Amino acid sequence: MPIVIARDSHTISRANISRNAIRVLTQLQNAGYEAYLVGGGVRDLLLGREPKDFDVATNALPEEVKSVFKNCRLIGRRFRLAHVYFGREIIEVATFRSNRQPEQDGERHAENGMILRDNVYGTVEEDAQRRDLTINALYYDVGDFTVIDFADGMSDLQNGVIRLLGDAESRYREDPVRLLRAIRFAAKLGFIIDPETESPIQSLAPLLSDVPSARLYEEVLKLFLGGSALASFEKLRHYGLFGQLFPATEEALSHEDHDFPITFVNRGLNNTDTRLQQDKSVTPAFLFAVLLWEPVRLGYEAQLTQDLLPAEALQTAANDVLREQIKHVSIPKRFSYPMRDIWQLQPRFEQRQGKRPYRLLSHPRFRAAYDFLLLRAEAGEVELELSKWWTEFQHANSEQKQNMSGQGRRGRGRRRKRRGKNSQSNKPSDE
Ligand code: ATP
Ligand code: MG
Repeated sequence: MPIVIARDSHTISRANISRNAIRVLTQLQNAGYEAYLVGGGVRDLLLGREPKDFDVATNALPEEVKSVFKNCRLIGRRFRLAHVYFGREIIEVATFRSNRQPEQDGERHAENGMILRDNVYGTVEEDAQRRDLTINALYYDVGDFTVIDFADGMSDLQNGVIRLLGDAESRYREDPVRLLRAIRFAAKLGFIIDPETESPIQSLAPLLSDVPSARLYEEVLKLFLGGSALASFEKLRHYGLFGQLFPATEEALSHEDHDFPITFVNRGLNNTDTRLQQDKSVTPAFLFAVLLWEPVRLGYEAQLTQDLLPAEALQTAANDVLREQIKHVSIPKRFSYPMRDIWQLQPRFEQRQGKRPYRLLSHPRFRAAYDFLLLRAEAGEVELELSKWWTEFQHANSEQKQNMSGQGRRGRGRRRKRRGKNSQSNKPSDE
Protein backbone atom coordinates (compact mmCIF):
# COMPACT_ATOMS: atom_id res chain seq x y z
CA MET A 1 0.00 0.00 0.00
CA PRO A 2 1.31 3.43 -0.83
CA ILE A 3 2.06 5.91 1.93
CA VAL A 4 0.09 9.13 1.52
CA ILE A 5 1.90 12.13 2.95
CA ALA A 6 -0.43 14.97 3.85
CA ARG A 7 0.16 18.58 2.93
CA ASP A 8 1.54 19.61 6.33
CA SER A 9 3.95 16.65 6.52
CA HIS A 10 6.06 17.55 3.50
CA THR A 11 7.81 20.65 2.22
CA ILE A 12 6.40 21.01 -1.29
CA SER A 13 4.69 24.29 -1.89
CA ARG A 14 2.73 25.10 -5.02
CA ALA A 15 4.56 28.42 -5.14
CA ASN A 16 7.72 26.56 -6.23
CA ILE A 17 6.07 24.66 -9.05
CA SER A 18 6.03 26.09 -12.56
CA ARG A 19 2.70 27.78 -13.26
CA ASN A 20 2.45 25.94 -16.54
CA ALA A 21 2.93 22.57 -14.87
CA ILE A 22 0.12 23.40 -12.46
CA ARG A 23 -2.03 24.47 -15.38
CA VAL A 24 -1.45 21.11 -17.11
CA LEU A 25 -2.17 19.14 -13.95
CA THR A 26 -5.36 21.06 -13.18
CA GLN A 27 -6.69 20.90 -16.73
CA LEU A 28 -6.16 17.15 -16.87
CA GLN A 29 -7.89 16.70 -13.53
CA ASN A 30 -10.75 18.96 -14.62
CA ALA A 31 -11.14 16.82 -17.73
CA GLY A 32 -11.68 13.84 -15.40
CA TYR A 33 -8.22 12.26 -15.54
CA GLU A 34 -5.75 11.41 -12.80
CA ALA A 35 -2.64 13.57 -13.06
CA TYR A 36 0.43 13.92 -10.86
CA LEU A 37 3.68 15.76 -10.79
CA VAL A 38 6.37 13.10 -10.72
CA GLY A 39 10.07 12.39 -11.07
CA GLY A 40 12.81 14.97 -10.71
CA GLY A 41 10.40 17.81 -9.99
CA VAL A 42 9.00 16.20 -6.85
CA ARG A 43 12.38 14.84 -5.77
CA ASP A 44 14.15 18.17 -6.10
CA LEU A 45 11.38 20.17 -4.43
CA LEU A 46 11.45 17.82 -1.45
CA LEU A 47 15.20 18.32 -1.23
CA GLY A 48 14.83 22.08 -1.41
CA ARG A 49 16.53 22.20 -4.81
CA GLU A 50 15.34 23.96 -7.88
CA PRO A 51 13.89 21.39 -10.31
CA LYS A 52 15.32 21.29 -13.82
CA ASP A 53 11.95 20.49 -15.33
CA PHE A 54 8.49 19.31 -14.33
CA ASP A 55 7.22 15.94 -15.52
CA VAL A 56 3.57 15.00 -15.41
CA ALA A 57 2.12 11.48 -15.28
CA THR A 58 -1.51 10.76 -16.08
CA ASN A 59 -3.98 7.99 -16.93
CA ALA A 60 -5.03 9.94 -20.03
CA LEU A 61 -3.74 8.27 -23.20
CA PRO A 62 -1.41 10.38 -25.37
CA GLU A 63 -4.22 11.10 -27.84
CA GLU A 64 -6.48 12.12 -24.96
CA VAL A 65 -3.82 14.47 -23.63
CA LYS A 66 -3.60 15.97 -27.08
CA SER A 67 -7.33 16.61 -27.13
CA VAL A 68 -7.17 18.47 -23.80
CA PHE A 69 -4.44 20.89 -24.94
CA LYS A 70 -4.29 22.90 -28.13
CA ASN A 71 -0.56 23.51 -27.70
CA CYS A 72 0.37 19.82 -27.60
CA ARG A 73 2.49 17.49 -29.73
CA LEU A 74 3.02 13.75 -29.43
CA ILE A 75 6.60 12.52 -29.68
CA GLY A 76 8.62 9.32 -29.38
CA ARG A 77 8.05 5.79 -30.60
CA ARG A 78 9.65 3.53 -28.07
CA PHE A 79 8.13 5.71 -25.42
CA ARG A 80 5.21 7.83 -26.59
CA LEU A 81 4.93 11.17 -24.78
CA ALA A 82 2.92 14.36 -25.03
CA HIS A 83 4.69 17.70 -24.98
CA VAL A 84 2.61 20.67 -23.95
CA TYR A 85 4.16 23.95 -25.09
CA PHE A 86 4.08 27.26 -23.25
CA GLY A 87 6.44 29.54 -25.11
CA ARG A 88 9.88 28.20 -24.24
CA GLU A 89 8.70 25.89 -21.48
CA ILE A 90 7.70 22.35 -22.34
CA ILE A 91 5.74 20.24 -19.87
CA GLU A 92 6.25 16.57 -20.58
CA VAL A 93 3.16 14.45 -20.01
CA ALA A 94 3.56 10.66 -19.87
CA THR A 95 0.75 8.16 -19.67
CA PHE A 96 1.04 5.68 -16.75
CA ARG A 97 3.01 2.68 -17.90
CA SER A 98 3.18 -0.87 -16.78
CA ASN A 99 5.89 -3.52 -16.79
CA ARG A 100 3.34 -6.14 -17.88
CA GLN A 101 3.85 -8.04 -21.10
CA PRO A 102 1.57 -6.74 -23.83
CA GLU A 103 -1.29 -9.16 -24.58
CA GLN A 104 -0.85 -9.33 -28.36
CA ASP A 105 2.84 -10.04 -28.71
CA GLY A 106 5.55 -11.12 -26.34
CA GLU A 107 8.38 -9.36 -28.13
CA ARG A 108 8.81 -6.57 -25.67
CA HIS A 109 12.25 -7.66 -24.47
CA ALA A 110 15.26 -8.45 -26.61
CA GLU A 111 17.23 -11.61 -25.87
CA ASN A 112 19.51 -9.70 -23.52
CA GLY A 113 16.56 -8.55 -21.41
CA MET A 114 16.50 -5.05 -22.84
CA ILE A 115 13.12 -3.38 -23.22
CA LEU A 116 12.41 -2.59 -26.85
CA ARG A 117 9.04 -0.91 -26.54
CA ASP A 118 7.55 0.68 -23.51
CA ASN A 119 4.02 1.61 -24.46
CA VAL A 120 1.97 -0.73 -22.30
CA TYR A 121 -0.27 1.53 -20.31
CA GLY A 122 -1.17 0.83 -16.71
CA THR A 123 -2.29 2.17 -13.38
CA VAL A 124 -0.49 4.69 -11.23
CA GLU A 125 0.78 1.86 -8.97
CA GLU A 126 2.23 0.08 -11.99
CA ASP A 127 3.69 3.33 -13.26
CA ALA A 128 5.51 3.79 -9.96
CA GLN A 129 6.98 0.27 -10.09
CA ARG A 130 8.55 0.70 -13.51
CA ARG A 131 10.40 3.88 -12.57
CA ASP A 132 14.12 3.66 -11.95
CA LEU A 133 14.86 4.86 -8.42
CA THR A 134 12.69 4.95 -5.31
CA ILE A 135 13.38 8.69 -4.96
CA ASN A 136 12.06 9.21 -8.51
CA ALA A 137 8.79 7.41 -7.81
CA LEU A 138 7.05 10.03 -5.68
CA TYR A 139 3.81 11.53 -6.96
CA TYR A 140 2.47 14.94 -6.03
CA ASP A 141 -1.25 15.66 -6.37
CA VAL A 142 -2.00 19.36 -6.96
CA GLY A 143 -5.65 18.69 -6.14
CA ASP A 144 -5.21 17.76 -2.48
CA PHE A 145 -1.51 18.65 -2.00
CA THR A 146 -0.54 15.12 -0.96
CA VAL A 147 2.61 13.22 -1.90
CA ILE A 148 2.01 9.56 -2.71
CA ASP A 149 4.92 7.27 -2.01
CA PHE A 150 4.65 3.82 -3.60
CA ALA A 151 8.20 2.65 -3.05
CA ASP A 152 9.47 4.06 0.24
CA GLY A 153 11.13 6.82 -1.69
CA MET A 154 10.61 9.34 1.07
CA SER A 155 12.79 7.51 3.57
CA ASP A 156 15.52 7.01 0.94
CA LEU A 157 15.32 10.70 0.20
CA GLN A 158 15.72 11.54 3.86
CA ASN A 159 18.57 9.06 4.34
CA GLY A 160 20.38 9.99 1.15
CA VAL A 161 20.13 6.59 -0.53
CA ILE A 162 20.08 5.71 -4.23
CA ARG A 163 18.05 2.52 -4.58
CA LEU A 164 16.75 0.91 -7.73
CA LEU A 165 13.20 -0.38 -7.60
CA GLY A 166 12.83 -4.14 -7.91
CA ASP A 167 15.62 -6.57 -8.70
CA ALA A 168 18.61 -4.41 -9.56
CA GLU A 169 20.24 -6.71 -12.08
CA SER A 170 17.10 -7.21 -14.18
CA ARG A 171 16.26 -3.51 -14.03
CA TYR A 172 19.75 -2.70 -15.38
CA ARG A 173 19.35 -5.34 -18.06
CA GLU A 174 15.99 -3.91 -19.11
CA ASP A 175 17.61 -0.54 -19.64
CA PRO A 176 21.37 -0.22 -19.15
CA VAL A 177 21.10 3.58 -19.09
CA ARG A 178 19.89 3.08 -15.52
CA LEU A 179 23.53 2.26 -14.65
CA LEU A 180 24.39 5.83 -15.61
CA ARG A 181 21.32 7.30 -13.95
CA ALA A 182 22.16 5.67 -10.62
CA ILE A 183 25.64 7.21 -10.79
CA ARG A 184 24.36 10.57 -11.97
CA PHE A 185 21.94 11.02 -9.09
CA ALA A 186 24.47 9.72 -6.54
CA ALA A 187 26.94 12.34 -7.80
CA LYS A 188 24.46 15.17 -8.13
CA LEU A 189 22.74 14.68 -4.79
CA GLY A 190 25.75 13.38 -2.86
CA PHE A 191 23.81 10.22 -1.97
CA ILE A 192 25.25 6.80 -1.27
CA ILE A 193 24.28 3.87 -3.46
CA ASP A 194 22.52 1.05 -1.65
CA PRO A 195 24.68 -2.14 -1.73
CA GLU A 196 22.16 -4.17 -3.76
CA THR A 197 21.87 -1.39 -6.30
CA GLU A 198 25.63 -0.94 -6.33
CA SER A 199 26.96 -4.48 -6.54
CA PRO A 200 25.92 -5.37 -10.13
CA ILE A 201 27.12 -2.10 -11.67
CA GLN A 202 30.72 -3.00 -12.47
CA SER A 203 29.93 -6.37 -14.00
CA LEU A 204 27.00 -5.05 -16.06
CA ALA A 205 28.91 -2.02 -17.38
CA PRO A 206 29.54 -3.70 -20.78
CA LEU A 207 25.75 -3.66 -21.40
CA LEU A 208 26.15 0.01 -22.31
CA SER A 209 27.57 -1.08 -25.64
CA ASP A 210 24.00 -2.09 -26.62
CA VAL A 211 22.66 1.42 -26.07
CA PRO A 212 22.39 3.63 -29.17
CA SER A 213 25.19 6.21 -29.29
CA ALA A 214 22.69 9.07 -29.67
CA ARG A 215 21.02 8.16 -26.39
CA LEU A 216 24.40 7.96 -24.67
CA TYR A 217 25.21 11.41 -26.01
CA GLU A 218 22.14 12.76 -24.20
CA GLU A 219 23.17 10.99 -21.01
CA VAL A 220 26.73 12.28 -21.26
CA LEU A 221 25.41 15.85 -21.41
CA LYS A 222 23.29 15.23 -18.32
CA LEU A 223 26.25 13.69 -16.51
CA PHE A 224 28.74 16.41 -17.35
CA LEU A 225 26.72 19.56 -17.92
CA GLY A 226 24.46 19.21 -14.90
CA GLY A 227 26.75 20.89 -12.36
CA SER A 228 28.35 17.72 -10.94
CA ALA A 229 30.74 16.80 -13.73
CA LEU A 230 33.76 16.07 -11.56
CA ALA A 231 31.85 13.91 -9.06
CA SER A 232 30.16 12.06 -11.95
CA PHE A 233 33.51 11.47 -13.66
CA GLU A 234 35.12 10.06 -10.53
CA LYS A 235 32.20 7.75 -9.83
CA LEU A 236 31.93 6.60 -13.44
CA ARG A 237 35.59 5.67 -13.39
CA HIS A 238 35.26 3.96 -10.04
CA TYR A 239 32.50 1.68 -11.34
CA GLY A 240 34.14 0.97 -14.70
CA LEU A 241 31.50 2.89 -16.63
CA PHE A 242 33.62 5.73 -17.94
CA GLY A 243 35.62 3.34 -20.12
CA GLN A 244 32.37 2.19 -21.73
CA LEU A 245 31.62 5.73 -22.79
CA PHE A 246 35.14 7.00 -23.54
CA PRO A 247 37.39 3.96 -24.02
CA ALA A 248 40.32 5.85 -25.55
CA THR A 249 40.32 8.41 -22.74
CA GLU A 250 40.14 5.69 -20.10
CA GLU A 251 43.07 3.97 -21.76
CA ALA A 252 45.09 7.20 -21.91
CA LEU A 253 44.36 7.99 -18.28
CA SER A 254 45.49 4.59 -17.12
CA HIS A 255 49.06 5.40 -18.17
CA GLU A 256 50.35 7.96 -15.77
CA ASP A 257 52.61 10.45 -17.39
CA HIS A 258 56.18 10.30 -16.01
CA ASP A 259 54.70 9.55 -12.58
CA PHE A 260 52.52 12.63 -12.80
CA PRO A 261 48.87 11.79 -12.39
CA ILE A 262 47.04 13.32 -15.35
CA THR A 263 44.85 16.04 -13.92
CA PHE A 264 43.72 17.71 -17.12
CA VAL A 265 40.28 16.10 -17.37
CA ASN A 266 39.58 16.59 -13.66
CA ARG A 267 40.50 20.25 -13.93
CA GLY A 268 38.43 20.72 -17.05
CA LEU A 269 35.37 19.17 -15.46
CA ASN A 270 35.83 21.08 -12.24
CA ASN A 271 36.05 24.22 -14.34
CA THR A 272 32.75 23.30 -16.03
CA ASP A 273 31.08 22.91 -12.63
CA THR A 274 32.43 26.25 -11.47
CA ARG A 275 31.25 28.02 -14.62
CA LEU A 276 27.74 26.66 -14.09
CA GLN A 277 27.78 27.83 -10.48
CA GLN A 278 28.68 31.27 -11.76
CA ASP A 279 25.89 31.16 -14.37
CA LYS A 280 28.44 31.20 -17.17
CA SER A 281 27.79 29.38 -20.39
CA VAL A 282 29.09 25.88 -21.06
CA THR A 283 29.07 24.12 -24.41
CA PRO A 284 29.19 20.47 -25.43
CA ALA A 285 32.01 21.41 -27.84
CA PHE A 286 34.32 22.43 -25.00
CA LEU A 287 33.19 19.51 -22.84
CA PHE A 288 34.04 16.94 -25.51
CA ALA A 289 37.29 18.76 -26.28
CA VAL A 290 38.22 18.22 -22.63
CA LEU A 291 36.98 14.63 -22.42
CA LEU A 292 38.84 13.50 -25.54
CA TRP A 293 42.01 15.56 -25.31
CA GLU A 294 44.22 13.00 -23.57
CA PRO A 295 44.00 10.39 -26.34
CA VAL A 296 44.18 13.13 -29.00
CA ARG A 297 47.30 14.56 -27.36
CA LEU A 298 49.00 11.15 -27.19
CA GLY A 299 48.13 10.50 -30.83
CA TYR A 300 49.41 13.95 -31.74
CA GLU A 301 52.73 13.36 -30.05
CA ALA A 302 53.07 10.03 -31.80
CA GLN A 303 52.23 11.61 -35.16
CA LEU A 304 54.77 14.40 -34.65
CA THR A 305 57.55 11.85 -34.58
CA GLN A 306 56.45 10.92 -38.12
CA ASP A 307 57.74 14.27 -39.38
CA LEU A 308 54.31 15.74 -39.94
CA LEU A 309 53.54 19.42 -39.51
CA PRO A 310 51.81 20.11 -36.19
CA ALA A 311 48.50 20.96 -37.83
CA GLU A 312 48.52 17.75 -39.84
CA ALA A 313 49.63 15.66 -36.91
CA LEU A 314 46.87 17.03 -34.77
CA GLN A 315 44.25 16.55 -37.43
CA THR A 316 45.27 12.95 -38.00
CA ALA A 317 45.18 12.25 -34.27
CA ALA A 318 41.78 13.92 -33.92
CA ASN A 319 40.37 11.91 -36.82
CA ASP A 320 41.64 8.66 -35.38
CA VAL A 321 40.17 9.31 -31.95
CA LEU A 322 36.81 10.56 -33.25
CA ARG A 323 36.33 7.70 -35.67
CA GLU A 324 36.39 5.27 -32.76
CA GLN A 325 34.67 7.51 -30.24
CA ILE A 326 31.44 8.08 -32.17
CA LYS A 327 30.83 4.34 -32.16
CA HIS A 328 30.17 4.74 -28.45
CA VAL A 329 28.84 8.23 -27.90
CA SER A 330 27.71 10.28 -30.87
CA ILE A 331 28.65 13.94 -31.17
CA PRO A 332 26.54 16.21 -33.38
CA LYS A 333 28.53 17.98 -36.08
CA ARG A 334 27.57 21.38 -34.76
CA PHE A 335 29.66 20.56 -31.71
CA SER A 336 32.37 18.36 -33.19
CA TYR A 337 33.48 21.12 -35.61
CA PRO A 338 34.10 23.72 -32.92
CA MET A 339 35.63 21.00 -30.75
CA ARG A 340 38.19 20.29 -33.48
CA ASP A 341 38.89 24.01 -33.79
CA ILE A 342 39.68 24.22 -30.10
CA TRP A 343 42.26 21.46 -30.53
CA GLN A 344 43.58 22.70 -33.83
CA LEU A 345 44.34 26.15 -32.44
CA GLN A 346 46.51 24.80 -29.61
CA PRO A 347 49.84 24.59 -31.49
CA ARG A 348 49.26 28.11 -32.79
CA PHE A 349 49.57 29.50 -29.27
CA GLU A 350 53.27 28.66 -29.48
CA GLN A 351 53.74 31.23 -32.22
CA ARG A 352 53.97 34.60 -30.61
CA GLN A 353 56.03 36.62 -33.03
CA GLY A 354 54.98 38.82 -35.89
CA LYS A 355 51.47 38.87 -37.28
CA ARG A 356 50.56 35.38 -36.12
CA PRO A 357 49.37 36.18 -32.60
CA TYR A 358 47.11 38.90 -34.03
CA ARG A 359 45.56 36.44 -36.43
CA LEU A 360 44.96 33.92 -33.68
CA LEU A 361 43.42 36.57 -31.47
CA SER A 362 40.84 37.42 -34.12
CA HIS A 363 39.90 33.78 -34.74
CA PRO A 364 36.21 33.26 -33.89
CA ARG A 365 37.15 30.35 -31.63
CA PHE A 366 40.00 32.15 -29.87
CA ARG A 367 38.23 32.49 -26.53
CA ALA A 368 37.37 28.81 -26.17
CA ALA A 369 40.83 27.78 -27.37
CA TYR A 370 42.44 30.17 -24.88
CA ASP A 371 40.34 28.76 -22.01
CA PHE A 372 41.53 25.34 -23.13
CA LEU A 373 45.14 26.53 -23.12
CA LEU A 374 44.70 27.76 -19.55
CA LEU A 375 43.61 24.29 -18.50
CA ARG A 376 46.58 22.69 -20.21
CA ALA A 377 48.88 25.11 -18.44
CA GLU A 378 47.29 24.48 -15.06
CA ALA A 379 47.63 20.75 -15.63
CA GLY A 380 51.35 21.26 -16.28
CA GLU A 381 51.12 20.28 -19.90
CA VAL A 382 52.45 23.56 -21.27
CA GLU A 383 54.37 26.24 -19.49
CA LEU A 384 52.39 28.64 -17.36
CA GLU A 385 54.41 31.41 -18.94
CA LEU A 386 52.76 30.70 -22.28
CA SER A 387 49.23 31.06 -20.96
CA LYS A 388 50.24 34.18 -19.03
CA TRP A 389 51.64 35.69 -22.19
CA TRP A 390 48.31 35.21 -23.94
CA THR A 391 46.37 36.59 -21.03
CA GLU A 392 48.55 39.68 -21.17
CA PHE A 393 48.46 39.95 -24.95
CA GLN A 394 44.67 39.98 -25.03
CA HIS A 395 44.44 42.86 -22.63
CA ALA A 396 47.39 44.84 -23.93
CA ASN A 397 46.98 48.09 -25.87
CA SER A 398 48.26 48.24 -29.39
CA GLU A 399 51.71 49.52 -28.46
CA GLN A 400 52.18 46.83 -25.83
CA LYS A 401 50.95 44.25 -28.32
CA GLN A 402 53.58 45.42 -30.81
CA ASN A 403 56.29 45.09 -28.20
CA MET A 404 55.12 41.66 -27.18
CA SER A 405 54.99 40.32 -30.70
CA GLY A 406 58.30 41.91 -31.69
CA GLN A 407 56.48 44.25 -34.10
CA GLY A 408 56.85 41.81 -36.87
CA ARG A 409 60.57 41.19 -36.15
CA ARG A 410 61.39 37.56 -35.88
CA GLY A 411 62.99 37.76 -32.45
CA ARG A 412 62.68 34.08 -31.91
CA GLY A 413 65.39 33.88 -29.26
CA ARG A 414 63.51 36.18 -26.91
CA ARG A 415 60.60 33.92 -26.29
CA ARG A 416 62.85 31.32 -24.77
CA LYS A 417 64.23 33.61 -22.08
CA ARG A 418 61.78 32.92 -19.34
CA ARG A 419 60.73 29.47 -18.47
CA GLY A 420 57.88 28.71 -16.11
CA LYS A 421 59.02 27.22 -12.83
CA ASN A 422 57.00 24.07 -12.91
CA SER A 423 57.71 23.27 -16.49
CA GLN A 424 57.24 19.57 -17.00
CA SER A 425 56.27 20.26 -20.55
CA ASN A 426 55.77 17.19 -22.62
CA LYS A 427 54.11 19.18 -25.32
CA PRO A 428 56.43 19.25 -28.30
CA SER A 429 56.94 22.72 -29.63
CA ASP A 430 56.35 23.16 -33.30
CA GLU A 431 59.26 25.26 -34.31
P1 ATP B 1 16.32 15.44 -14.05
O1 ATP B 1 15.24 15.86 -15.00
O2 ATP B 1 16.55 16.35 -12.93
O3 ATP B 1 17.58 15.03 -14.74
P2 ATP B 1 14.53 13.27 -13.58
O4 ATP B 1 14.48 12.25 -12.49
O5 ATP B 1 13.33 14.14 -13.74
O6 ATP B 1 15.84 14.11 -13.34
P3 ATP B 1 14.04 12.50 -16.29
O7 ATP B 1 14.99 11.92 -17.27
O8 ATP B 1 13.45 13.84 -16.55
O9 ATP B 1 14.83 12.50 -14.91
O10 ATP B 1 12.90 11.42 -16.07
C1 ATP B 1 11.71 11.68 -15.35
C2 ATP B 1 11.32 10.45 -14.55
O11 ATP B 1 11.08 9.36 -15.42
C3 ATP B 1 12.38 9.95 -13.58
O12 ATP B 1 12.33 10.60 -12.35
C4 ATP B 1 12.03 8.49 -13.45
O13 ATP B 1 10.95 8.33 -12.54
C5 ATP B 1 11.53 8.15 -14.82
N1 ATP B 1 12.61 7.61 -15.67
C6 ATP B 1 13.43 8.30 -16.48
N2 ATP B 1 14.30 7.51 -17.12
C7 ATP B 1 14.03 6.25 -16.70
C8 ATP B 1 14.56 4.97 -16.99
N3 ATP B 1 15.58 4.82 -17.85
N4 ATP B 1 14.01 3.90 -16.37
C9 ATP B 1 12.98 4.05 -15.50
N5 ATP B 1 12.44 5.21 -15.19
C10 ATP B 1 12.94 6.32 -15.77
MG1 MG C 1 12.96 15.56 -15.28
